[in-house]
Amino acid sequence: MLDGLIPCGGRWARLLSGGPVPVILFAAFLSVLLCGVAINPSPVFAQERPPELKFESLDKAPEDDKKDDKKDDKKDDKKDDKKDDKKSDKKSDKKSDKKSDKKSDKKSDKKSDKKSDKQDSKSKKKIKEKKEPFFYTYKTEEGDTLELVSVMYGAKVKSLKRWNRKILPRRGPIPPGTELKIYSNKSVRIKRKATYEVKKGDTLSRVAKKAKMSVSQVKSVNGLKSSRLKPGQVLIILTSSTWPPSESVGTCSNGKLINGEKLPAGPGYSYRNRPNVYGTNETVTLLLQTFEKFRKKYPKGPNIVVGNLSRAEGGHLAPHKSHQSGRDVDLGYIIKDEYQPVTHMINASERNMDCEKTWFLMDSLIKTGRVKYMFVDYEVQRVLYEYLESKKYSKKLLKKYFQYPNRGSDALIKHVAGHVHHVHLRFVCPKGDKECRD
Ligand SMILES: [Zn+2]
Repeated sequence: MLDGLIPCGGRWARLLSGGPVPVILFAAFLSVLLCGVAINPSPVFAQERPPELKFESLDKAPEDDKKDDKKDDKKDDKKDDKKDDKKSDKKSDKKSDKKSDKKSDKKSDKKSDKKSDKQDSKSKKKIKEKKEPFFYTYKTEEGDTLELVSVMYGAKVKSLKRWNRKILPRRGPIPPGTELKIYSNKSVRIKRKATYEVKKGDTLSRVAKKAKMSVSQVKSVNGLKSSRLKPGQVLIILTSSTWPPSESVGTCSNGKLINGEKLPAGPGYSYRNRPNVYGTNETVTLLLQTFEKFRKKYPKGPNIVVGNLSRAEGGHLAPHKSHQSGRDVDLGYIIKDEYQPVTHMINASERNMDCEKTWFLMDSLIKTGRVKYMFVDYEVQRVLYEYLESKKYSKKLLKKYFQYPNRGSDALIKHVAGHVHHVHLRFVCPKGDKECRD
């Protein structure tokens, strides 16, 4: 996850609203850091919603988890609160932490445990069946703790423990490469992992503010016992975009990508070993959200086949003219079940294309409001158009979306040769990328 982070001092300075320019260290330094990261036995932080991506954390998690969590959390939170408040953070973050912890305590107190055991075991079964397909897998890296994964996905540490009881070691660090299961009912990974080197004059609350984390999150993720920081100390931070954030520069056919984010591997889609799957933070986020929406609608698949995005640093990517600035994406049309499994992009036709699923995918992307164009072969447009017509879609909407049956007309979905086996989508410039040109 750390690849693709390229230093760019001026930009950081701008980003950090006049604070000292932080130095980001790379994978090489991670090993140094890891020695200092101990597994924190007691999760301390209050759950916080991320600022950008809305995420219904596990409020609606399976009932059995809810129940157990509340019980345990009540006890633990109270203990931890006391400990936490006594020991540390008295000056800087007492206020904010106390507030949020109190809130969550109150909530859990109100809701707690009225159901009988019988009901509970019933709902357990039901929910297990329902929820089973909807999980994420996170492959741990060296030094990862449950506290860290908890913030990344907005899941509770206790829930993580429960879901992964069989694969977690009883004691000690989590071995790298462990595939943790994270159940969630909405959205995707919400925070990215990055590192931050402490500068002279940095305080814990200042670093937390920069990273948009709470002080207790920074402490728990890094296994810090005290609030004191030393210059040069490397901290793990979890941010809403990559750190530093991506930037799309220039146009799609003459541009580049700074700090491109790699589309992570995940359930419901595949790009095999394709190396050129870097995009802007927005591109990757929107794709992940859309793939997840698709997976929820069609839990049995098929997998969405992902083609090229951009190279890590953008620029020319053969054989494409575009795909240069992290905003272009190739996706295979969804092929009917009887022709599955399809592992690469194949020519779509009236015979083999699953119009319902293909349109669900395209429409979900269009509904993000960030798609500028889609390139779809005219004949494939015809097949989709006629399908939607048969489903009584409004003519007005169809005209807005498809060039078919008026070749050359102004529509979102355009004919460009070479798009028989994939739809090419282009996102508009991310807000704030000043050198990006649509
Ligand atoms: Zn393309």
